[in-house]
Amino acid sequence: MKDQKKRILIVGGVAGGASCAARLRRLCEHCEIVLFDKGQHVSFANCGLPYFVGKVIKDEKKLLVATPELFEHRFNICVHTEHEVLKIDRDAKTISVQNLLDGSIRDEAYDALVLSTGSKAIRPPLVGIDLPGIYVLRTIPDSLKLRAAAKNAKRAVIIGAGFIGLEMAENLANLGIAVTMIEMAHQVMPPLDAEMAVYVEQSLKNNNVELKLGKAVESFTEHETGLKVHYSDGGILETDIVLLAIGVQPESSLARKANLNLGERGGIQVNETMQTNDSAIWAVGDVVEVKDLVTGQAISLPLAGPANRQGRIAAGSVLKYLNNDDRKILKFRGVQGTAVCQVFGQTIAITGANEKTLQKNGINNYQAIYLHPGNHVGYYPGAKPIHMKLIFTQDDGRILGVQAIGTSGVARRVDVISMAMQMGGTVYDLEESELCYAPQFGAAKDPVNMAGMIAGNNLRADLPLADWHSLQDHECFVLDVRSANEFSGEEIPGAVNIPIEELRDRYTELPKDTEIMVVCGVGQRAYYAVRMLLQYGYQVKMLPGGMQTYQVIKEIKKG
Ligand code: FAD
Repeated sequence: MKDQKKRILIVGGVAGGASCAARLRRLCEHCEIVLFDKGQHVSFANCGLPYFVGKVIKDEKKLLVATPELFEHRFNICVHTEHEVLKIDRDAKTISVQNLLDGSIRDEAYDALVLSTGSKAIRPPLVGIDLPGIYVLRTIPDSLKLRAAAKNAKRAVIIGAGFIGLEMAENLANLGIAVTMIEMAHQVMPPLDAEMAVYVEQSLKNNNVELKLGKAVESFTEHETGLKVHYSDGGILETDIVLLAIGVQPESSLARKANLNLGERGGIQVNETMQTNDSAIWAVGDVVEVKDLVTGQAISLPLAGPANRQGRIAAGSVLKYLNNDDRKILKFRGVQGTAVCQVFGQTIAITGANEKTLQKNGINNYQAIYLHPGNHVGYYPGAKPIHMKLIFTQDDGRILGVQAIGTSGVARRVDVISMAMQMGGTVYDLEESELCYAPQFGAAKDPVNMAGMIAGNNLRADLPLADWHSLQDHECFVLDVRSANEFSGEEIPGAVNIPIEELRDRYTELPKDTEIMVVCGVGQRAYYAVRMLLQYGYQVKMLPGGMQTYQVIKEIKKG
């Protein structure tokens, strides 16, 4: 009964706020829980919005995971929608709330306050940015506007090729709209390294999405049949609708005004139980900054999973604070950016750091490998490749990150590797992972095992690996061990072809005083060749991922 009469206020009632409220009630039957949201809905499925616009999800009600009525009746939680919290008075422990329906403002007292105010779409101050026809997608009302506009649209320009931009490209294209994406970076999907993004770019092009990469939007103007988007180098696109999907920033204005500690990027700083520098205030979700477990840096990671888990964690911490008791509580351990998205049937999944991030943070002691295993055994009908890039430390084989793309079985592999990473796992753990196998699901050597085996072989010096960049930087002796027929289809300029089946008889044709880089289709035959040549005393390395990887490397070189 100690919790009685304690008043907990929550600002923001979606992923982090709603999960915190529900957990609080599960842990404390006696405290008063009041939730405010300036929007019309709480606990809605923001992640489903692109599919609602694309009419994959037809009924708006399906987006409502929980309603204010459900919170009231099932959990005895009082929900005020269309109530904006304007100010926090930390000394008085009150918040100032405006009822957006009648404009009235009142103060509400708290014993504990939880901020889950999320993030806001970045809207750069470009000429014409407020013109009608330019949309963002954050809320159900946003999605209704976009859905209505899409009804009559023939052309759409999406600015930004991250998760939301890509999901929207697919959904708008599936409505029969001609989609062009403009992206300032020279690749789509920034969490991928450029050569992995090529697979996504190819898929977009195959589905008639036009890409303008390395282009910055400069302004918008109206014209008789819609809008003109002006971008770098004098480019102009005529369109009916524009979607701004260039990223988000923490919605931390309340916290800023209340002098709570913020990080460099504007996220609220919290401890591992989500408590801010004010012991009576917690913050969760997109609005906080979190520790990147790979780089050690403070980052923003606007994803639903962390927001939900942080909401749960904050609930326990709030009650421990209010009751000053010794209850056991959870701690947030940081993030590694595990994420997934689907574009035109391709699943893109990632966890951990990519090479760009490692280099930016001065982490250079790593090795990257590529592999292209089937999602399941080749003899079972319908096998499809998964393009994978695994990055690990050179000294102890600790996993730093993985990127994977394919049509099936992708998220499962990345989830397994993500969990291994969270347990501090190494590539040796991937080699030894015991995973599900039947022909329709995988292989006796699963792609996860394969990634670990290639990496482990490399670290044990059984399989020296070449860096694709060194191939471009200086002249190398390249041995291609595919069949003559495959070789005649496409070859690395200057490569010498000795099919693997002939190599045992012909290896003496190879130079002993030069480093040899061996390539095949995806890496398997090159591995056999490397093992053979090493034992005959040659200096030899394998080009990981074979010609499959060469093609994407060549694509990014072309620009
Ligand atoms: P939000 O869910 O944004 O909720 C914040 C709430 O706070 C809002 O309702 C807002 O109205 C309210 N608020 C803000 N300020 C105030 C104030 N002053 N007073 C009162 N109320 C206030 N993540 C994934 O992991 N996977 C996905 O597939 C995915 N897809 C997405 C697709 C879209 C289109 C969008 C927009 C997001 C997607 N996300 C996805 C991200 C995910 O939805 C967010 O990370 C998550 O919702 C964050 O939860 P939150 O509680 O921090 O903030």
